[in-house]
Amino acid sequence: MAGFEQHLRVSTGIGVVTGAVATFGFGFTPAQGILAAYLCGVSGMLPDIDSTSGKPLREMSNLTAAIVPMTMMERLKEWGGDFDTALLLAILVYMCVRFAGSWILSKLSVHRGMFHSIPALAIAALAVFLGWKSDEMSVRILMAGSVGLGFLSHLILDEIYAVQWNGLAPELNQFAGSATKFFGKSTIANLFTWSLLGGLTWLSLGRAGVVEEPTVPKPAEFREALRSLPGVERL
Ligand SMILES: [Zn+2]
Repeated sequence: MAGFEQHLRVSTGIGVVTGAVATFGFGFTPAQGILAAYLCGVSGMLPDIDSTSGKPLREMSNLTAAIVPMTMMERLKEWGGDFDTALLLAILVYMCVRFAGSWILSKLSVHRGMFHSIPALAIAALAVFLGWKSDEMSVRILMAGSVGLGFLSHLILDEIYAVQWNGLAPELNQFAGSATKFFGKSTIANLFTWSLLGGLTWLSLGRAGVVEEPTVPKPAEFREALRSLPGVERL
């Protein structure tokens, strides 16, 4: 199995190439290219977010918790209406991912379970596609694609490491095929992953204008509901 640093090195390399091609070949701004490179690099660690203990889990839950509100900032500003509320929402998102998220992960996940899978890759990419607030569809596709590429580099690297060379003939170890799978061993995990993927696909198709966009509360309604919560106005 490839280690934490190896995954990071490969995904960062792919990210730098992706960012450069996006900037010099497709006319994205340098900032967008660098962001794409960064997202790709970080996503190379995402599949190992379910490792049960040690450095990778800590590093990644910290990093993911910091990145999720960052990528959602524009949207949070829209939801919050003003900077203060947006900042409060960002902190809440951070805490949810950092503490609730890593707790749920440690309880529910099996290392190299459904996080090491093709549907998980699609979920990560679609989540970025939906969360990225940009008027330009191409920017959202670039960012989502970069996350997908980084994620894919991890799965492929794990598969490469599952091949052990025995003299001339390659031999597959017990992990072979387990990283680039579509279904895991647990029915509940499969149901959860595929329902989440279905929901995100539907929302993304709505956002892309392929199907009718589902109705979500307008930012003003959301703010009103937030204000009506007891004690919120004193924060
Ligand atoms: Zn892995």
